Amino acid sequence: MRFGAHISIAGKIYQVAERAKRIGCNTAQIFSRNPRGWQLKELLLDEVKRLKDDLERFDIHPLIVHMPYLPNLASSKVGLYLKSVNALEEDLRRSEILGAPYLVTHIGSFGESSREEGLERVSEGINTAFNKVRNDVILLLENTAGAGRELGSRFEEMARIIENIKEKERIGICLDTCHGFVSGYDFRTKKAVSETLKLFDNLIGLERLKVIHANDSKSPLGSHIDRHWHIGEGYIGEEGFKALLHHPAIRKPPISSGNLVSSFRSEIRNLPIIIETPFKESGDDLKNLAILRRLAK
Ligand SMILES: [Zn+2]
Ligand SMILES: [Zn+2]
Repeated sequence: MRFGAHISIAGKIYQVAERAKRIGCNTAQIFSRNPRGWQLKELLLDEVKRLKDDLERFDIHPLIVHMPYLPNLASSKVGLYLKSVNALEEDLRRSEILGAPYLVTHIGSFGESSREEGLERVSEGINTAFNKVRNDVILLLENTAGAGRELGSRFEEMARIIENIKEKERIGICLDTCHGFVSGYDFRTKKAVSETLKLFDNLIGLERLKVIHANDSKSPLGSHIDRHWHIGEGYIGEEGFKALLHHPAIRKPPISSGNLVSSFRSEIRNLPIIIETPFKESGDDLKNLAILRRLAK
């Protein structure tokens, strides 16, 4: 299985490869630009080439790009909405340039309008961006913690967004365990993981699941408070992550359990697992990745 972390792009973009390698990643997630601003720093082709070469040399793939924080595809404010669709187009282009097959986006907040209208705006914005940018990058909707007017914490809502997207082959899901847990989806035991993923399959379809954000939660089940925590030390706990990492929807089961394979269309399994756990000391990511690798054995 491939495990990685969200890696800083500070300095030159190719430094990402070295940073990821140093903590033993074999997949990685990055922002393509400053996540707290709208301005774009041009991607320099020689620096991008070096990044791609190094990632290949270190066997780090897939590279996953995460959208910045400011865009809100559900916004009822026209100006912000148009800027957000624009940012999505830009990041679809940048993901392709960076050689990233996946772009992860948050879904957004519906603000002063209705939930329904918010969901429609998200689908429309994605349709517009897909129309403008023709490439093979798959856009992954990330489930949210569902705080306030945030959309996309329920699988039903993600299914609704996908339903209204025209080019469905360009859309997938990134499942964040912390966000899911605080939205009321249990991941603490083998039974809970299996039920949660079954529900996901019924409402969205497991073939859409492409990336896992593995984060433990510092807040309890259903609290809607988004606080990522170290693997095994939060409310989800080691047993939950172990069950998740062994579930046939996430990883390819050994050949001997052949009958499980078909039910999860397993040719696409062995999903990349990305941690976004707190990072205070340089050893934090190393430690969390080591715990996940141990639990996956
Ligand atoms: Zn996440
Ligand atoms: Zn979060």
